[in-house]
Amino acid sequence: MSLTEKELLANVPTKLYIAGKWVDGHGENSIAVEDPATGKTLIEIANATEVDGLAALTAASEAQEAWAKTPPRERAEILRRTFELVKARSEEFAMLISLEMGKPIAEARGEVTYGNEFLRWFSEEAVRISGRFGSSPEGTGRMLVTQRPVGPAFAITPWNFPLAMATRKIGPAIAAGCTMVVKPAELTPLTTLLLTATLEEAGLPAGVVNIITTSTSAKTSAPIIADPRLRKITFTGSTQVGVRLLEQSAKQVLRTSMELGGNAPFLVFEDADIDAAVEGAMLAKLRNIGQACTAANRFIVHDSLADEFASKLAAKMEAMPLGRGLDPDTKIGPVINESARTNLQRLVDLTVKEGGNIVTGGSSVSGAGYFFQPTVLSDVKPGSTILNEEIFGPVAPIVRFQDEDEAIRLANDTVYGLVSYAYTQDLKRGLRLIERLDTGMTGLNTGLVSNAAAPFGGVKQSGLGREGGLEGIHEYLETKYVMIPDPSL
Ligand code: NAD
Repeated sequence: MSLTEKELLANVPTKLYIAGKWVDGHGENSIAVEDPATGKTLIEIANATEVDGLAALTAASEAQEAWAKTPPRERAEILRRTFELVKARSEEFAMLISLEMGKPIAEARGEVTYGNEFLRWFSEEAVRISGRFGSSPEGTGRMLVTQRPVGPAFAITPWNFPLAMATRKIGPAIAAGCTMVVKPAELTPLTTLLLTATLEEAGLPAGVVNIITTSTSAKTSAPIIADPRLRKITFTGSTQVGVRLLEQSAKQVLRTSMELGGNAPFLVFEDADIDAAVEGAMLAKLRNIGQACTAANRFIVHDSLADEFASKLAAKMEAMPLGRGLDPDTKIGPVINESARTNLQRLVDLTVKEGGNIVTGGSSVSGAGYFFQPTVLSDVKPGSTILNEEIFGPVAPIVRFQDEDEAIRLANDTVYGLVSYAYTQDLKRGLRLIERLDTGMTGLNTGLVSNAAAPFGGVKQSGLGREGGLEGIHEYLETKYVMIPDPSL
């Protein structure tokens, strides 16, 4: 039986979680979490200050030694139990994601499946942390290499995938034996709070994961990052904030994982299956209402297909009903807030001024909530402002190209390097593109790359490190090497 919105919100914890207890924050005012489809407050939650942040770090630091010693199988089983509990409550999680973030309920269900998979994947990885043993080249010694947990980590997550961005960090940290302070985004903290209650129910010991929600992120985070008890920072969010956190982390030479912004090129070659490319474009552009780091930001289309691609994409976009995420007919929800919407309008207006054309959409939708029309812009000129910024909304700019070298040059012409997409039916070209596209990930004839079993991450200003896959757990492990003299000497 599905819950009503009221029942759902009544189940969500609203306090901070520190040392295994739900506690009030020291912030003067609570944080009002809004429904972006209506602009109305859903619920008020605790607001942490520096005092609470440091209390959370104390709890993580005190729990670290015992947690590192906890058998990997036990850590794995806590993750596995959490996975089963999230699965059993998947509709509750999906409704909450949709309510606080705005995505259509079908997509929110997809996020629950995807996000929960990190818990299962890392429950499986926890027992596979291994090392090596061998002879030194000159034969006089034995070399032992082991892995051990980095130590207390500080995780900061963005608002756009409230479950998956949390599990992608919490899963490997728990598996590796690290304790954590987690700070979800103030715009969508409810899903992380419900996840925390689920971890508690699954038997996670006190102090292993501590959650602080705050309206003063910079002020509350800085003393945690400056504290010598912290050993690692793992951040997902904008490049701008990531750079600032890297600067702060440098003072203590912290281990860092940075999953930052993107500006994904989506290339369509003259030999592409155009209908497949349009389908892929819908997914790469409109997933999460265009608010994904992996969102296709620049459609780079061969001159011979550009008009057909623009009109087919526009027709599909126009057929997508806008609405509140919980309404089952909704295919596109609102963007996260008014400033995100104003930014979309700014980018569309600038594109037109800089010589592009509006094929469909182009404006905000009046009325309650932060809706923006799905928009296709054609004949966008290389160098236009929109091609250099993260759009983060349902707006698709199309640029024409004449040959492969030009397409690759345009694709790589950005400070970002998270993901690229390419549609071609020529195998050799596909292989050339994999080598020449300067991104951490490429979708070849697909518009979706995210998978818990894959190493997710970018190059250039899109970040450092990888989350998920075999690589994900290594972000929370450090290598220890031991030299032992040859026992026979
Ligand atoms: P953001 O950088 O504004 O905020 C991210 C998080 O950092 C939030 O929790 C915020 O409260 C916190 N924060 C902001 N300033 C801080 C400071 N000075 N000190 C400590 N914490 C601070 O990003 P956002 O708007 O929440 O998310 C959108 C961005 O995230 C986009 O750039 C998107 O590409 C990126 N993103 C990247 C990935 C990835 O895997 N590469 C995934 C999702 C989102």
